Amino acid sequence: GRIRICSTLPCRLTDTQEKLLPMFRFSEWIDAFAWADGPPPNTLVRFFKWSLHGTWRVLLFALVIALCVGATEILSAYFIGWSIDYALAQGTEEGVANVFSSGAAIFIGLALFFIVLRPALQGLNAAISALVVQANLYPLVLARLNRHTIGQSLTYFDDDFAGRIAQKEQQTAKALMDVVMESLNILGMGLSAIFGSMILLGTIDGKLAVILLAWFITYCLLIAWFLPRIRRRAKARAGARAVVTGQLVDTITNISTVKLFAHGNFEDQAALKALGTYRGTSIDFGTLTAWFRLLLMTLAGILPVTLIGGALWYWSKGTATPGDIAAAGLVASRLGHMSGWISFTALGIFSNVGEIEDGMRTLSPSHQIVDAPDAITPDTVKGEVAFENVTFTYGQEKAALHEFNLTIKAGEKIALVGASGAGKSTTASLLMRLYEVEGGRITLDGHDIRQITQDGLRSQISMVTQETAMFNRSARENIRYGTPDATDEQVESAAFRAAAADFIPDLRDLKGREGYDAHLGERGVKLSGGQRQRIALARAILKDAPVLILDEATSALDSEVEASIQAALQDVMQGKTVIAIAHRLSTIESMDRILVLDEGRIIEEGSHHELLARNGQYSRFWSRQSGGVARLAAVESQR
Ligand code: ADP
Repeated sequence: GRIRICSTLPCRLTDTQEKLLPMFRFSEWIDAFAWADGPPPNTLVRFFKWSLHGTWRVLLFALVIALCVGATEILSAYFIGWSIDYALAQGTEEGVANVFSSGAAIFIGLALFFIVLRPALQGLNAAISALVVQANLYPLVLARLNRHTIGQSLTYFDDDFAGRIAQKEQQTAKALMDVVMESLNILGMGLSAIFGSMILLGTIDGKLAVILLAWFITYCLLIAWFLPRIRRRAKARAGARAVVTGQLVDTITNISTVKLFAHGNFEDQAALKALGTYRGTSIDFGTLTAWFRLLLMTLAGILPVTLIGGALWYWSKGTATPGDIAAAGLVASRLGHMSGWISFTALGIFSNVGEIEDGMRTLSPSHQIVDAPDAITPDTVKGEVAFENVTFTYGQEKAALHEFNLTIKAGEKIALVGASGAGKSTTASLLMRLYEVEGGRITLDGHDIRQITQDGLRSQISMVTQETAMFNRSARENIRYGTPDATDEQVESAAFRAAAADFIPDLRDLKGREGYDAHLGERGVKLSGGQRQRIALARAILKDAPVLILDEATSALDSEVEASIQAALQDVMQGKTVIAIAHRLSTIESMDRILVLDEGRIIEEGSHHELLARNGQYSRFWSRQSGGVARLAAVESQR
């Protein structure tokens, strides 16, 4: 066997102990990170099954333990009644002596039950719910939901608030865990207590059991009437709360715009409106729950009256003993408490089921962009890109791209220009397959990109965009993102080529980490737009993919820095297929071909000089940007 440290002494485990040990590592009973079985279904029962897949055996065991705990509660009432009867039965002085002589056995029996069995079961039950269920179900379900969410296409995220999705994932996982915990408690302890009590009362008189049964049915009817209504209102309240969160997140993410437009009041009003709705739904919910509690407590009050009263009646008839009265009283008060607790818990369950349904609707939509079953992962590609009759609308009426055709030879460098909203970025997003084309097709080296795995496709394309978000990680890790196995030297050489080595050594974050170790992002060093672009460029240089998309990649650089990385860019573009999107035409003069887009179509096409000569849209852009006539004249005279 293995050597283990038991308290302070090393000791050798026997084989049996070795086998038994994992049994006592409760937290290991469920594999908290097991993968789900496919995508999440969108009906409640199947969604539960999907979320809890792989845990059923353990949950069943937990239920059995909870049932045993419930049974001990009733047994203790029985013991107490029995002891009273036993004492009374002796009655006389010899009897008292008798109690003490046979008492040892009774005493040991009671001690075993109350000091050993009952606490052991309670302890096991607590360990299972805390270590097995709580500790594992939340990570299990959240990881499954999150994995599915990450795989969603951008359209999915465009349609929702980022904060809302993250919150839904967590709420759904937590609600699911709570439902499981509470159901175990209710089913286990509640049901066994009710049916145990019926048996116990049945030993006094069958009619008492019938009374309890009638009470239990009334109780179920009450719950059956109220809970669905409460659940509906809980759902409305959860929905309203999500709107509040969305509103707050929206305001805070755009706080600088809010300030620039001095729109604090406007945002406040928007928040108040959302909060007003939330408050209304809360009041609806609260009214119903208050009524429910009132009726429930009244119903619970009926129990001691009927059960103790009934037992007294049978006692007066000589068919029940004083011990029976005590036991009936204990059972009545126990069930009274429990009915309050159960309904409260059931309420929690129903509200949580409402949350889960809400979360399921948000999170279970199937992925819009999935890898085809026979999709390939190309090792190397030449980099020939073609758009064939591509149409895409973002689900809107106006098409962002309309029957768009464009063939880019491997190694060719093209630029897309055009007014804002012309469809330039859409072209890039579609090529990356962040969205699915609605008509036509896009090919890479002749393969429809839908026949290539998404990871495979994206690993062949580097993209540097206008707005590059930095992760809350070190500068080094930020550059390495996308090429995780690059060495430190490679990272630094890429930074050097992207002219990022100028400023990285001087970075210092709040925690005192410096240079390549300094953390960037929201909670780290704040970089200027130009610095962010250079990090992004370094990322792309490191990735070294055959197709390079530069979407306004140098827009935030000042002219000097831009000049210094132009050379680097030329170097990076060597031998790659390049699609550059730029407003500043000076940066694209040297491209092989320039395409002018307008409303999702190509309206002009040619080299810089050809386009100037054509005197169309491009030359108008050009003269506007380059300070115009003088420059244009100079170009003309060159020809
Ligand atoms: P450009 O990059 O040329 O400025 P885009 O490709 O970003 O233009 O946009 C093309 C059209 O698609 C515009 O009409 C724009 O409003 C629309 N559009 C862009 N992104 C989205 C989106 N996420 N959802 C809906 N419409 C969008």
